[in-house]
Amino acid sequence: MILLRGATVVTMDARRSVVRGDVLVAGGRIESVGRVRAPKSTKVIDCAGRAIVPGLVQAHVHLCQVLFRNHADGLELLDWLSQRIWPYEAAHDARSLGFSARLGIAELLLGGTTAILDMATVHHTEAVLQAALESGIRYTGGKCLMDAASGPLHEDTAPALEETQRLGRKWHLAADGRIHWALCPRFVLSCTEKMLHEVRLLSERHGWLVHTHASENRSEVEQVRKQTGRDNVEYFDDLGLCGPRTVLAHCVHVTESETRILAETKTSAVHCPGANLKLASGNAPVPRLLAEGVNVALGGDGAPCNNTLDAFHEMRLAATLHLPQFGPRAMPASEVLAMATIRGATALGLESEIGSIEPGKKADLAVVDLSGAHCQPAGPDPHATLVYCARASDVTDVFVDGRQLVRNRKLLTLDAPKLAASAAAEARRALRKLA
Ligand SMILES: [Zn+2]
Repeated sequence: MILLRGATVVTMDARRSVVRGDVLVAGGRIESVGRVRAPKSTKVIDCAGRAIVPGLVQAHVHLCQVLFRNHADGLELLDWLSQRIWPYEAAHDARSLGFSARLGIAELLLGGTTAILDMATVHHTEAVLQAALESGIRYTGGKCLMDAASGPLHEDTAPALEETQRLGRKWHLAADGRIHWALCPRFVLSCTEKMLHEVRLLSERHGWLVHTHASENRSEVEQVRKQTGRDNVEYFDDLGLCGPRTVLAHCVHVTESETRILAETKTSAVHCPGANLKLASGNAPVPRLLAEGVNVALGGDGAPCNNTLDAFHEMRLAATLHLPQFGPRAMPASEVLAMATIRGATALGLESEIGSIEPGKKADLAVVDLSGAHCQPAGPDPHATLVYCARASDVTDVFVDGRQLVRNRKLLTLDAPKLAASAAAEARRALRKLA
């Protein structure tokens, strides 16, 4: 048993309650919240001056791209993909891919992100899963499917489907259910209709999530229209792909009728403001999506298009970016924190297990030190301090399934300083074959 004592507990329950008190963790789950009297043998962690939040959820990342951070600046989406990211991903061997995943997971866990929805690359997918397994992070993701695109990552439809099924059967619910498989067609332009049709059937048969990109960039939307005669979301809906098991990254350029489809089918959208700004893609109409009843989660996307996987940075952007267009009250801090917690959990289909601090839920928690000069004086609403002021480096302790993965800002499962120190050499080694 672990007792986190004397904190501001930001529960993110349905009432967005904040409790001044303790959190007791037992058997990997939250036992109780409030004033807790724990048995003598309980390990006590003093959390005075700190907030405890549900472990943050980033519902769209690419661990495979982390090694290429700072190597693809100054480009729009389609050039960024074809000139840099696809050749880079194709240059990975299992070693560099595993390294990239570990480097990304280290950044994520140290910054309080405990659960991710990840799109891996086409090859060597198990190197990512192995890294997720060792690190202790809660991982949902899968092999990227690209059977229509020409270029270095092209793979024929049948072998791609065969491999995603083989890996899904092997890894889904591995690590006591901490790992979930997802079907990851990259986006409409890199997949045949046959592939998307088979993805729907596999998702229905196995209950696996479908994760893809949609309507990120204007040129992409135009090409999708040219190719299919429809907009992205309409096309997915016609294929039967919209639904509560489908998670669409971006949704920057979606029409009002597409917004209604997302809401009615309970399809989740993932807002990635840092990536949308840096790739000059535009601003997703998030207040409108939320008002229409769409579940919107948050994600850092790829390290080469953001260039950070800091969930606090992403929350601050999401909280401020839309205000000039939608007004100063359009994105309340508590709802932005919900996008990074309970709404992310909903996107992952895990809302009954994670995303809020409530008895019975899995103990995925982040402890955030709010005593720094940049957070003080704290106002009446801790959601606001967390969203507007706090930084990833304020996270001191992190738990997944009640297991402590970060203690006093030190990652216990991976050697983060060594990963950072070797990253440049590992990137050079991976990219040597492109020279
Ligand atoms: Zn992406």
